[in-house]
Parts: sequence; structure tokens; C-alpha cells
Amino acid sequence: MQHSFRPESLMMGYGYHPEWSEGALKCPIFQTSTFVFNSAEQGKAFFEVAYGLREQGPQEVPGLIYSRLNNPDLEVLEDRLCLWDQADQAAVFESGMAAIATVLLEFLSQGDLLLYSNPVYGGTDHFITQFLPRMGVEVLGFFPDTTEEELIQMVEATGKSARLKLIYVETPANPTNALFDLELCRRVADHFSSAEEPVTVAVDNTYMGPLWQHPLAHGADLVVYSATKYIGGHSDVIAGAVLGKKDRMQRIKALRTFLGNMASPHTGWLLMRSLETLHLRMNRQAENARAVADFLRDHPVVEKVHYLGHLQPGDPGYDIFQRQLKAGGAMVAFDVRGGEREAFAFLNGLALVKLAVSLGGTESLAQHPATMTHAGVEPALRERMGITGKMVRLSVGVEHVQDLLWDLGQALEKVDAGQKIRD
Ligand code: PLP
Repeated sequence: MQHSFRPESLMMGYGYHPEWSEGALKCPIFQTSTFVFNSAEQGKAFFEVAYGLREQGPQEVPGLIYSRLNNPDLEVLEDRLCLWDQADQAAVFESGMAAIATVLLEFLSQGDLLLYSNPVYGGTDHFITQFLPRMGVEVLGFFPDTTEEELIQMVEATGKSARLKLIYVETPANPTNALFDLELCRRVADHFSSAEEPVTVAVDNTYMGPLWQHPLAHGADLVVYSATKYIGGHSDVIAGAVLGKKDRMQRIKALRTFLGNMASPHTGWLLMRSLETLHLRMNRQAENARAVADFLRDHPVVEKVHYLGHLQPGDPGYDIFQRQLKAGGAMVAFDVRGGEREAFAFLNGLALVKLAVSLGGTESLAQHPATMTHAGVEPALRERMGITGKMVRLSVGVEHVQDLLWDLGQALEKVDAGQKIRD
């Protein structure tokens, strides 16, 4: 009888064989820089495949060579990551930024054009707007309300339509939860693609983790993660991942080999451990986030809540949410009544929720995007994207929901009290 196991059932053992390591149930940390070949002929064969000098045979398994090229902890982890997104291949990196930078560097050369969504994570924004232009890459940002026709016109107006090589999208966008239509991005990429020069679509899916959105199913060629967030999930490791179709992934893995920015065996092992509870953690976080968002929506000190689970028919992004996402996620931003002073009073008043950047971990975190994660973004652009002094971003964790609501409530009371004293 045929039965396909679901990813959450496979996270405990998929891709690892106990006979590799004295019957050990769990994949040990292969803390080694290099691997011993059985013969010179075997070493030669391994290198031929690794360096693309010949195609891998149908029954041939790529051999272990050197931990900058491959290592069991990374390979088993990569096989497991592929299951959630139904990717052909994955590559893990020493950080999310290493994963993102490798994608941008591999698919863009001097004179090329990049189309990218706004807002993106502050570090990505810096790399795109400060570093890529130095390399001679022209970069063109678009917004959640930019239409398909406007996108095509924007590209044509540069006079470089043939040089559009990459569309880079972060959706939902950090920190506003703005949504971008991936199928629309695919159509724009196809419009400018030729048989020799396909336009690649890469999507930062960090905000939705591997559970709640599958960009490859909506036309993307590559998915990028800061694995520091939901995949790692415990705020104790920095890592990144790229997943996608085989042809694109072979290019990514080749550049990773030469940049040497792969994750370490220990990081691979930690992430495998984290993946075993990914489903449990993320579902609990999403449940808590809904309760938090509902609580904030009804609070008098809160002006506006930016939470995907609250989108209603007619709201910008509602149709995309219905088509593209499987849940409202666990990231909630909100605007307090007032400005930076009130937002800071709230942040300083928290008792359980920690005041720290990052997201997707088991503990709830709060931060102030305008002066923290997005402080480096050009002020006019920040304003256009709604990242103002009154905005607070919450990453909701797995705590008891009543404790979270109590903490948010008492911190909001401090804002209220401050406002009353000034009035
Ligand atoms: N992408 C998003 C959406 C992020 O929020 C972050 C980090 O906060 C990154 C990428 C960068 O990841 P890392 O910090 O692992 O380099």
C-alpha cells in the first residue's frame, strides 16, 4: 500500500542512515574538515561530479570530499528542508545574509538590472542599494501597490529590458506585513525572459517559515530563508538557506563552494534538531499571534494592527493572502497612538516579552523598526512604507497566551498613563 509521509513525520530521520554512524539513532556532528577516499579513482570520480566536469550517473551518489563542498550534517539538513517547499535542492549558509548575498551575486553581473520589492529587510536593503550599484548593477525598487503594467513600464523605461536578470521579492515584507503577488512577478519575469537569458525570481520567505507559504508553487525559482528565524527557532544560531530548482541551485552551490560561506557541521546539526519541532512551534506561535492581534485591535491605545489574519475582502493584499498563504503567521506590527515616545514607553514597560531584534524564536520579542532594524533605510522611503515612529513589531513566541496578553496589556497601560499625565 502506498503512503506518503508528511514533512513533519519525516523530520526526525529522513535522509540519514544509522549504519553511517555505528547505529546512532540521531545524525551525529560530523566535525571533520575532510573525508578519506577509498582509492585515487574514487577521489577523481567525486571531483568530476562536484566540479561539474561530467554529469552524475543515475545510481551515483555525490561523494564526500571536503566540508566546504559537502558534509553529512549539511546534506541531511538540506534534504529535509527540501520536503517542506518541494524543492529539488537546498544549500545552507552561515547566515541569512550570506544566502541572500550569494543569490544576488550569482545572478547579477556588471550592467545588469535588478527589480526588487520594497520594503526588504534592512541588511538586504543595504546590500541592494549600497553594494550592488558599486558593482555596476542598476537596482529598481517597486511597492506593494505597483501594478503589473507599471512594473513592465518601469523596466522598459530604463532602456535595459534585456539586462533584467533577477526579480527579488520579500513577502510578507518585514516589518509591515505587506504582500506581493508572486504569480504577477513570474509573469513579469517571463515577459522579459528569452530562451538563452531567463529572468530568475527569488523570494525571501523568512516571515512565513517553510510552513505557511511555498513560493516555488507560485512560480518562484528560488526561496531564501534566514534560518536564524523559524527554522532555527530558538534564537541560538545564525544561519541561512536557499532552495529551488536544480539548474539554479547548482549555480548557487558552486558559488557557495568558492565563497566558502556554507554553514558549519555544528550549525547543521542544531538546525536538524530544530526542524523536529518546527511544525509544533510555528502552529503554537500562529495561534498565540492571532490572540495577540485580536487583543491589540481592541485596545484603545492602539491605532492600527498590521496582521495578516485580519485581512478582509477588499483590503489590499486580501486576494494574495487567500491564494498564496496558508496562515496569518506570527508577526504582528502595530501603531500606538502617539509616536516614538509612546512606542518606547510600551517597549520599556514589557516584563515577559524581550526587547530585541530578530524573530521566529520560541520567545516573544518586540522592537522598534524605524530606529532599529530599518534605521538604515532612507527616511522618505521608510515613511512611504509606513515604518513610522509609532510602529512596534512583535514576533510572537510559544509562551502561555494569557501571560503574553497580560504583559502587553500592562505595557500599554504605561503608555496610556504617560499620555494622561501629559494631557
Ligand atoms: N531576511 C529577513 C526577512 C530577515 O528578517 C533577516 C534578519 O533579520 C534576514 C533576511 C537576514 O538573516 P540573518 O540575520 O540570518 O543573516
